[in-house]
Amino acid sequence: MEADTVIISIGEVPILDFLPREIHTERGFIVVNELSQTSDVKVFAVGDVTRPGLITHAIGAGRRAAETIHAIMMHTDYEPEKRPAIPYDRINLVYYEVSCGEEFVPEQEADRCASCGACRDCRMCKNTCYQGAIKRTEGPKGEFEYTVIEDKCIGCGFCAAVCPCGVWEMEENI
Ligand code: SF4
Ligand code: SF4
Repeated sequence: MEADTVIISIGEVPILDFLPREIHTERGFIVVNELSQTSDVKVFAVGDVTRPGLITHAIGAGRRAAETIHAIMMHTDYEPEKRPAIPYDRINLVYYEVSCGEEFVPEQEADRCASCGACRDCRMCKNTCYQGAIKRTEGPKGEFEYTVIEDKCIGCGFCAAVCPCGVWEMEENI
């Protein structure tokens, strides 16, 4: 893919000290509107510099930003399309596009996984839980596990809100 500039952007916490003052930030993230415009409307920001999230959030925001920029350059209006969420029980292989050649090779398909929904061991949930209700244990081969200590958890939901991978699910008390 040809490009004028390639910016390598790897990390869990955005480093924003290079930004001019005109670009507003809040709590370590760039403030954007629903079109991904920053406080300088000609500058757009998407992905983990705006909030922790899944790779799908970043891709969607990138698409909306590109469509907004296109509309601005073409002097047309742009209204982001509101797409309905697919119900969980309808998610199946029908929507899955095989793109590693003609033949379905599970190992090749697995290589495409961006691991956006798997725990990346960032420890943000553990560090955020002020009840000390999340325990991290590590096995002899470096494998790790996060568990909630039920009698300490007050169900505040901070862990679910802060997790960049959507690992935690909150459930109603029965
Ligand atoms: S819901 Fe709140 S108290 Fe419970 S584990 Fe998550 S952050 Fe800790
Ligand atoms: S569960 Fe989420 S917040 Fe906790 S360590 Fe894993 S990725 Fe990080």
